[in-house]
Amino acid sequence: MAELRALVAVKRVIDFAVKIRVKPDKSGVVTDGVKHSMNPFCEIAVEEAVRLKEKKLVKEVIAVSCGPSQCQETIRTALAMGADRGIHVEVSESLGPLQVARVLAKLAEKEKVDLLFLGKQAIDDDCNQTGQMTAGLLDWPQGTFASQVTLEGDKVKVEREIDGGLETLRLKLPAVVTADLRLNEPRYATLPNIMKAKKKKIEVMKAGDLGVDLTSKVSVISVEEPAQRSAGVKVETTEDLVAKLKEVGRI
Ligand code: AMP
Repeated sequence: MAELRALVAVKRVIDFAVKIRVKPDKSGVVTDGVKHSMNPFCEIAVEEAVRLKEKKLVKEVIAVSCGPSQCQETIRTALAMGADRGIHVEVSESLGPLQVARVLAKLAEKEKVDLLFLGKQAIDDDCNQTGQMTAGLLDWPQGTFASQVTLEGDKVKVEREIDGGLETLRLKLPAVVTADLRLNEPRYATLPNIMKAKKKKIEVMKAGDLGVDLTSKVSVISVEEPAQRSAGVKVETTEDLVAKLKEVGRI
């Protein structure tokens, strides 16, 4: 019987299908009344941990999210996908990767987990830093952008997509793994599992309860819409295309 425990970090983000609007004062993006969902890469991370549990290689899967009270909905989704219990670290302000990494590192130690799964990237801030920083704080090995994960006793083999092809790493547990797009296809939570998830436990705590310092040295100066793209020009023939490219100095 497996004794390994996995912690999965799930972030609540603006849904990928929502058209983002910048606040008039450029301090950030509009979040009020906007549909939020679990970050897609976190869904992949949850799916991977749950599959390991279904193969009886992992004993318990714990989902954690840091943020406002609505993060509990994100945790409920993870529970409906098959995680066993949740931890909500309640904070009102939005946290940067280093602050989240401090929370995750503390929880990973407190819960004595062997595997810490994260998404490779959050689609709202596109930071791609939290997994790496958490591994650094814990001094654990890391397998980032994982496209395949195989448990081998007290080690985990991680295949990762790199520029020139695939890299295979073998990490000694405990380890941090961040999920890339091709790792798996996450399941949809079924209605019976959504109902079952309502009975699963979510522990709510404050970052202060963990003794974590949330001060940040980074402040956002301005958030702006991308520049509008100017309309293209249609050409009839290859000759016209070449002439047009010459005209604008591209060839
Ligand atoms: P980032 O470094 O911001 O691109 O985020 C990478 C991953 O870190 C996400 O996919 C999550 O697994 C985790 N993460 C980031 N922020 C949070 C948060 N507030 N709560 C839980 N997990 C988070």
